[in-house]
Amino acid sequence: MIRTYLEGLPEIYPSGTPYNTGDGITMGLEAGADLWHMSNIAGPEFFFKAPGIAVSRWINIPHVDSYLFVACDGKRFTAEGTPCMGADRHGKTKVHGVWMQQLTPVPVYMVFDETFRKAGSIGESFACWDVTHGNLYDWSADNLREVEKGWIKRANTIEELAPLINLSPEVLKATVARYNAFAKDGKDADYDRTAGYMAPLQAPPYYAMELTPSFVNTQGGPRRDKDARVISVEGKPIPRLYSAGELGSIYAFNYNAGGNVGECFAFGRIAGRNAAQEKPVRAATTAGAT
Ligand SMILES: Cc1cc2nc3c(=O)[nH]c(=O)nc-3n(C[C@H](O)[C@H](O)[C@H](O)COP(=O)(O)OP(=O)(O)OC[C@H]3O[C@@H](n4cnc5c(N)ncnc54)[C@H](O)[C@@H]3O)c2cc1C
Repeated sequence: MIRTYLEGLPEIYPSGTPYNTGDGITMGLEAGADLWHMSNIAGPEFFFKAPGIAVSRWINIPHVDSYLFVACDGKRFTAEGTPCMGADRHGKTKVHGVWMQQLTPVPVYMVFDETFRKAGSIGESFACWDVTHGNLYDWSADNLREVEKGWIKRANTIEELAPLINLSPEVLKATVARYNAFAKDGKDADYDRTAGYMAPLQAPPYYAMELTPSFVNTQGGPRRDKDARVISVEGKPIPRLYSAGELGSIYAFNYNAGGNVGECFAFGRIAGRNAAQEKPVRAATTAGAT
């Protein structure tokens, strides 16, 4: 479903439950439902996916800004930041003034220097990960445990770091040099990263950590109407079938802050009331029936 419905994404991981695997979509199709908003997700944004753990982890940017993101060609591709603190709003960025999908030229790496590494835990779960999933992994405060694990690569120079992540040393060096000039200037001429949230990478050693496209929730699923009735491919309500929440969300593309939970409340209430008013259907029993 990811490869069918989400543009240009070979893979993407949830930071929420790993148990929502599309069963509701399959059940809707079996009942003859129309689908809508299948390409809309609260993502993609760049989190960390640890080996062996099914869900991705938000990254924490300490209040030190000597880092940048590079694409598979070693070049920058976006105004970096944590979810909703960079140019990205849960996977939507403004292109020529219009909200469009965040590019995902994977593999994507976060490259940073020693000052950033020492500033605090990159994987510190300030809000969501451990709250949602329990303490799945205890990220070190100085990020050195993750260096030892090989999750974060380290080298004395940018040129030496590049081959560790399969990038051209010349290209990565040029990318960092260009970004450093912008950071010193206080103006990102390429991607307009937020002024005041840029610092040059100038303290060796240097580090690189792969980031994975991730999302907090999806929006696609069976189409519903204002009465929370699931609508068939013929455009008619399917008898006795209601839906609420993010399975078949009302949101077509944009990310609406708070909108998901709001929708759960609103349509949960409507669907519950309407379903409760349905007359019970009793199994027909006839004499001699088996
Ligand atoms: C980290 C994070 C931050 C978020 N922040 C916000 C926010 O600030 N504001 C906001 O509005 N929204 C936010 N959201 C999104 C919001 O939490 C969800 O959209 C909302 O909780 C969806 O509720 P739901 O009841 O539709 O689905 P869910 O809460 O996902 O419930 C679906 C349930 O169905 C179960 N299930 C799946 N398949 C089956 C099956 N075959 N049989 C039985 N059970 C099954 C799942 O295990 C799950 O428990 C956030 C989400 C995450 C992950």
